[in-house]
Amino acid sequence: MAINNINEIIMETNPCDKPTNGKSPIQSKVSRYTKPDNTVVLVNGVKIGGSDIVIIAGPCAVESKEQLFSTARSVKAGGAAILRGGAFKPRSSPYNFQGMGEEALKLLSTIRSETGLPVVTEVMDTRQVELVASYADMLQVGSRNMQNYPLLKEVGLSKKPILLKRGMMATIEEFLLAAEYILSQGNDQIVLCERGIRTFETSTRNTLDLSAVPMLKRLTHLPVIVDPSHGTGLRWMVPPMAKAAIAVGADGLIMEVHYKPDVALCDGFQSLSLDEFDLLMADMKKISHAIGRKIAMPKVVSV
Ligand code: PEP
Ligand code: MN
Repeated sequence: MAINNINEIIMETNPCDKPTNGKSPIQSKVSRYTKPDNTVVLVNGVKIGGSDIVIIAGPCAVESKEQLFSTARSVKAGGAAILRGGAFKPRSSPYNFQGMGEEALKLLSTIRSETGLPVVTEVMDTRQVELVASYADMLQVGSRNMQNYPLLKEVGLSKKPILLKRGMMATIEEFLLAAEYILSQGNDQIVLCERGIRTFETSTRNTLDLSAVPMLKRLTHLPVIVDPSHGTGLRWMVPPMAKAAIAVGADGLIMEVHYKPDVALCDGFQSLSLDEFDLLMADMKKISHAIGRKIAMPKVVSV
């Protein structure tokens, strides 16, 4: 039987909370009760969900070879283990930059060969899954698509690791059930990402729900990471929230970094500059150490 609500997920999480009314056990694949040990997601050699904290960084969107390559080289030097960069962008206005499409995928694949950094990029449509999966190491399902059930099923059928972002109006229960869709198709390589939700508060772009991290870690065996860029929408607020995310137990972070944030075609106001990223990484190493973890080192590329 499939899980239907958060109470069932919670009851499954803690055997002591299991109902004694004779109800048969519910086998949700996402639940920590079903699988007590943490799932470790392997992204082309980089482990997410193990003891090390994984930093994913890069531009919101791939805009040019120069922009992507200089940003990628710099975030690698700063300690990022995975590169992000949108090729197909879900923009609020159809007149805004929509991404470079396959050309961006080719650039991502070229810079992966040079840096060794695995690549995560968004897939917005079932018809793009095959194409994006042929270039990327990890497929991102964005906030706006968290409840696109045909897409969830399609990426569930692919053999690629999935970065599933929380819908901006999704409850924890809906978020976990979205992951269950992917798991139900046989793919357990899922990383959950808290990226802020819509509340009555307007001073930040979204309200970054850091309480989602310990809640999700309790309810599910899947790794949980945080996106303080979309979560706040404010460049200056990314470092404090990134540090807080590590302190509350996130397995990693995904952050937007741009070599020239002021001229970015997408989300420049929330993108860190290369120097800001380097400074933040130094602080995050200290916080990780304080909680008995460390930041995963980027892979060494043999030349
Ligand atoms: C992104 O990562 O660039 C993005 C569009 O994220 P979200 O789906 O969380 O808005
Ligand atoms: Mn963005």
